[in-house]
Amino acid sequence: MKSYGRQYIDEKDIKSVVETLKEDYLTTGPKVKEFEDKICKYVNARYGIAVNSATSALDIAVQSLALPEGSEIITTAFTFAATSNSILYNNCKPVFADVLRDTYTIDPEEVKKKINEKTKAIICVDYAGHPCELDELKQIAREHNLILIEDASHSLGAEYKNQKIGSIADITIFSFHPVKPITTGEGGMIVTNNEKLAEKIKMLRSHGIDKSPEQRDTWEYDMKELGRNYRITDFQCALGISQLEKLNEFINKRNELANKYTELLKNTEIEVSIVKEYVKSGRHLFTILLKDEKERKKIYDKLRERGIGVNVHYIPIYKFTYYKKLGYNEKLKNTEEIYSRILSIPLHVNLTENDIEKIVNVIKEGL
Ligand SMILES: *Cc1c(COP(=O)(O)O)cnc(C)c1O
Repeated sequence: MKSYGRQYIDEKDIKSVVETLKEDYLTTGPKVKEFEDKICKYVNARYGIAVNSATSALDIAVQSLALPEGSEIITTAFTFAATSNSILYNNCKPVFADVLRDTYTIDPEEVKKKINEKTKAIICVDYAGHPCELDELKQIAREHNLILIEDASHSLGAEYKNQKIGSIADITIFSFHPVKPITTGEGGMIVTNNEKLAEKIKMLRSHGIDKSPEQRDTWEYDMKELGRNYRITDFQCALGISQLEKLNEFINKRNELANKYTELLKNTEIEVSIVKEYVKSGRHLFTILLKDEKERKKIYDKLRERGIGVNVHYIPIYKFTYYKKLGYNEKLKNTEEIYSRILSIPLHVNLTENDIEKIVNVIKEGL
């Protein structure tokens, strides 16, 4: 219970990693391709590019759009810093829109208010594994000729109106960090149905170097873009493949545990996360809202004292020193209110309903 989230690794996972270590390719080999294909098949997307983190994935996804310097990308401040940092890496400007009060995902109406002639894209985040309002966001993107990137670091396996996350936005990003739905240690993936963007992203993953099929048996190759080395290893992808087989079980378990929390916290003053009826949430986080900042601190300390992993997701990005230095000083209404009251309590597949009961009892004692 030390952390709010953690990986689940079994003997099968370990065996597949060890087997891959004995193969010819440790990187850029067949396991990478197999993992990409399997994720694509699972989420129903055409192209998948596996990389060494979701941060890298976001970076080259934005780079692939080749936006003029100073272009604006609308995103949420209620996310991990990597989401909006990817915009800064590419000399574009993050513009923060407020979140919905019920799911803490970006509010499409607030997005509309921030659009101007410099706006080129939207990066939405499936907070806690709950998909964003994708129909509305897609509609806005279509009307204003914007690219929709979905940071689905929390939501591999989640569904929106019976479609898997990864099949909806122009580009979707997944993370395989240990606290995320499945893990490769570190790792990430970009999925898209856009062939041109997929080809470019694939090049950007490896120095921007392109080797055409005719050049395969020669020393020739060309560097067409300023890429990076964001490659992932075959043994990490072997772990990913093995983990993917357990994803549906993981999601079901997370939903069961979250439902247990909801049931046990009913009839208390605590507000729990909700799930809209047209989505299946990945339940990456389970968050509660306490009465106010003071109450949140009290419960946070109480849980920490008992060795229970709690955290706050997230400190709004515009509050960070680096962003303040860039001139950000907003105070978005819902973002501020939720941030001041929210707490993530443990949710991962190693927990039992008994653990959930114990955690809730500690919270109730603290109230
Ligand atoms: C974890 C996370 C990332 C970054 O993922 P890494 O794989 O650790 O780089 C990006 N965005 C969100 C919303 C995340 O939760």
